[in-house]
Amino acid sequence: MRLSRLFTKTLREIPAEAETASHQLTLRTGMIHQVAAGVYSYLPLGWRVLRKIEQIVREEMDKVGGQELMMPVLQPLELWEKTQRHHAFGKSLFVLTDRRERTLFLGPTHEEVITELVRHQVRSYRDLPLLLYQIQTKFRDEPRPRGGLLRVREFSMMDLYSFDVDAEGLDLSYQKMRQAYASIYRRCGLPAMEVEADSGAIGGKDSHEFTVITPTGEDEIIYCDSCGYAANVEKAQSVKSEGERAAPLPLEEVATPGMKTIEEVAGFLQVPQSRTLKAVFYSADDDLVFVVIRGDLEVNEVKLRNTLKCSELQLATEEQVRRAGLVAGSASPLGLSGVKTLADDSIMLGTNFVAGANKPDYHIRNVNYPRDFRVDLMLDIAAAKPGEGCPRCGHSLASTHGIEVGHIFKLGTLFSEKLGAFFLDREGRQLPIVMGCYGIGVGRMMAAAVEQNHDDQGIIWPLPLAPYQVYLCALGMDKPEVAASAEKLYADLEAAGIEVLYDDRPESPGVKFNDADLLGIPLRVVVSPRALKSGSVEIKWRSEKESQLLPLEGIVDKLREQISARLSLA
Ligand SMILES: [Zn+2]
Repeated sequence: MRLSRLFTKTLREIPAEAETASHQLTLRTGMIHQVAAGVYSYLPLGWRVLRKIEQIVREEMDKVGGQELMMPVLQPLELWEKTQRHHAFGKSLFVLTDRRERTLFLGPTHEEVITELVRHQVRSYRDLPLLLYQIQTKFRDEPRPRGGLLRVREFSMMDLYSFDVDAEGLDLSYQKMRQAYASIYRRCGLPAMEVEADSGAIGGKDSHEFTVITPTGEDEIIYCDSCGYAANVEKAQSVKSEGERAAPLPLEEVATPGMKTIEEVAGFLQVPQSRTLKAVFYSADDDLVFVVIRGDLEVNEVKLRNTLKCSELQLATEEQVRRAGLVAGSASPLGLSGVKTLADDSIMLGTNFVAGANKPDYHIRNVNYPRDFRVDLMLDIAAAKPGEGCPRCGHSLASTHGIEVGHIFKLGTLFSEKLGAFFLDREGRQLPIVMGCYGIGVGRMMAAAVEQNHDDQGIIWPLPLAPYQVYLCALGMDKPEVAASAEKLYADLEAAGIEVLYDDRPESPGVKFNDADLLGIPLRVVVSPRALKSGSVEIKWRSEKESQLLPLEGIVDKLREQISARLSLA
């Protein structure tokens, strides 16, 4: 491709709306263009990257026996009524009405559609197992689209669904997919960490995410260096620290003038925050929920949402709290009635806590559960923190950040039962098909690749994903010998099947080198009057500092060797 003809202009300035490196760089290199919030066009360079990712994904899915098909974007409400999942998706669903006043959704995922399809095709255990996948555009109305391709409302995704006769079959399919996913990330040059995950609105049992580790990633990962335990913070568990243990003392009301937060109250009464009980109020589908947790810990809202099985969860408003007869800043689980109360099990780890008195400027000392109050439900709803104990081995947990680029779930028979996807086993019994689902965000992988591979000058594409392998840069195109050599080399490289972006513009070396670094094409090849004098060209890998001179004679073979050597390493 000639750069002078390429439908893309690079930008010098950093676009004001872009915060993350991948957002800035994909805009500046003209890979993508924003059409609306969270909605993008892919320009030729970006589209080439996307198709390369798709191709690697497709090959790895085919390798483990996946069969590619294509399902529609439009999905009828009637199908979703069978699983009732539209309630869990809530406002994330794009809803539309057709001319006959029927409700349709723009598909955010395809479990319903594929289960219905398989129901019509599968009769007996002989038809199973099946691995079916598509690479399709999905729609989710994100509340806060951000970060370019990281959080979008329309996106390309590979989704595979497995269908098995029993749980052992599902385990096998799940293992196959874990390995296939690991191969995909390795081949893309994008190392990803496998972490335990929450299964969210998709539902189901076991679930893992594949996360590209990068400091700017919005997902927090809690992990253990010692045994390899790793989980998204939404799901992570930990061994909570023990609080102080002492004989329960009598309740005692104390004045705490003006003290409202845990920090203020603990400081004022000179007790550690782990000796306080924190009250947090939530509105779960408009019902008020009172949560009690030890003062040094935070509520994990995903765990809470899963416990409450609600679709909308937010902190309650002051008005909601007041209406329930509670005093914010001094709310107390003592004497509470008529409000659903949940406690984190950390309130059992310690004695003689300070809690609210439910009147302004007062708290109560020596509160002990269950002596002094009751709760409706007690379980782990705390956010795991680095420094706490690993749930498997007890070693101290650490935390890092990353970008989720894949998510796999064991669904079990949730969907097949609701949608009537049964099969006859060897004994002629009718059983529900056991399912799994497996997704890879293709556009997200492109953003993650940039996030993980860039410097101040621009992108440093992993070779397998780069839009082109070689950036052929001709300096002094006005000199006939340069133009002739560069044109010939361009033709030879193309003929040899090497993907080459040919900078044939009449620009200065500075402009050309800056664009080469910004675009991040892995191998730069420079044809210049000076190098030509010694019958050579200069080559430089974007990921390395040093350039080298190679003889022009036999250069195509040399470049092909270097490229294949690096591709086979991936
Ligand atoms: Zn561990």
